[in-house]
Amino acid sequence: MRLFLAMVSHETNTFSTIATDRAQFEARDLHYGGALVEAYRGTATCLGGMIDAAERSGAALAPSVAASASPAGRVTREIYEHVKARMLADLRASGRLDGVLLDLHGAMVVDGIDDGEGDLIAAVRRAVGPGVPMAATLDFHANLSRAMVEGADLLHGYKTYPHVDMAERGAEAAARLDAVIAGRLRPTAAFRKPPLLPPLGNQGTAHGPMRELYDLAAEMERDPAVVSVSVFAGFPHADIPDAGLGIYVVTNDDRPRAEKLAEALAREAWHRRHAFVHSAVPVREAVARALALPDRPVVLADIADNTGGGAAGDGTEILRELIRVRARSVIVACLWDPAAVAECARVGVGRRITLAVGGKVDDRHGAPLTVTGTVRTLSDGRFVHRGPMMHGLPGRLGPTAVLDVDGIAIILISHRWQTLDPEMIRFTGLDPLDHHILVVKSTIHYRAAFEPIARAIIEVDAPGLSSSNLSRFTFTRVRRPIFPLDPETTYRDDARHPR
Ligand SMILES: [Zn+2]
Repeated sequence: MRLFLAMVSHETNTFSTIATDRAQFEARDLHYGGALVEAYRGTATCLGGMIDAAERSGAALAPSVAASASPAGRVTREIYEHVKARMLADLRASGRLDGVLLDLHGAMVVDGIDDGEGDLIAAVRRAVGPGVPMAATLDFHANLSRAMVEGADLLHGYKTYPHVDMAERGAEAAARLDAVIAGRLRPTAAFRKPPLLPPLGNQGTAHGPMRELYDLAAEMERDPAVVSVSVFAGFPHADIPDAGLGIYVVTNDDRPRAEKLAEALAREAWHRRHAFVHSAVPVREAVARALALPDRPVVLADIADNTGGGAAGDGTEILRELIRVRARSVIVACLWDPAAVAECARVGVGRRITLAVGGKVDDRHGAPLTVTGTVRTLSDGRFVHRGPMMHGLPGRLGPTAVLDVDGIAIILISHRWQTLDPEMIRFTGLDPLDHHILVVKSTIHYRAAFEPIARAIIEVDAPGLSSSNLSRFTFTRVRRPIFPLDPETTYRDDARHPR
């Protein structure tokens, strides 16, 4: 058995002014051919799960491309067309294929193409024809579209946020594709799009509405005719028509049952719409609360400046307040500011420097902050994820400096990377357990690895492009009315009314 394998992953925040170009992919991940198998084998990622499952079953892989970049603004047409052309050329050169395995995101917006994955899936389908089965994994934050559902035979959404089941979903996609190829499974899918745009803050699956929906999905999956159920929470910071929650149910040769279950879950999601509305603690109050707690470490979660949601990663408002109140024993992890890193490197370790940090990308993450501190360490920014997410995968933060401003250690990095693993602190020589306050730039993902070490977590309502306060954004293209932007929205299914 011969399987085509590719990964294309980007979560596009259309409010970001940072274009996602070739350099952004090169900074994160752009592998071709066998190199992608070597890079991902054994890692807790979809691609890792797909590779392990395929190798266990004795399938031969035709690896094409693995392309991912840190979430930011629209993907440029140049790099998208390059990756797509490479995949189509590899498909043509692959000879006979039994199936196609794709590790995709589902919230990629390309210049001029709102539904990046829909476009990519349709192109692959045209290339292989209707007879070659295609299975894809999609991120929990996919903005599910008709083109994705109709182009692929099987979609598998992550069932967790933090995304700790990526390898499991990848292996599942490979196993299901195997069953389709062998004729044991005939997938019949249904999907629903209620008018619901959940903010990120209450999308976590530890508790709350997404936990309840996935519990219902798990019950549905106990029926042997049900192959899998995905509830995509959606990515609200992509201002495109299809943004928002999506339900996908696939059954074995039983479309009416898929339709019935998808409709039931969409109604359940709608019923819980108010539970998705999120609020966080204002900056001053959050810092005061953290300082008043005797235990350590206390995590101040900078949920609105999450590079994993396309925010700049250079927000300064929490740091500004910490300096104002002369807080000590603090780590800020991590602030994206390549120019500040370069200045620190220029003066060298042990030297004092006055410079402006952060707030340089746009006017949505606070103003640049002038600080005076001592350069503690300089490094190349390489670490390995050791938490439940992406375990084993190397991370590259680029040139990194630790600047100590009177007891506040600011980790300055050169590649935008979400703070989802304490290893992003430890590799600099700092011990997160040894500090009173950890400022962590992440919305939900940090919880997988930081909850076990944090004595308390406070979600901060600082400014930023991943804020869960959606009223701060001017939406012009998402379908309307949609909840919570339009509080009086009534239930409807946008999957059945293609625009
Ligand atoms: Zn996600």
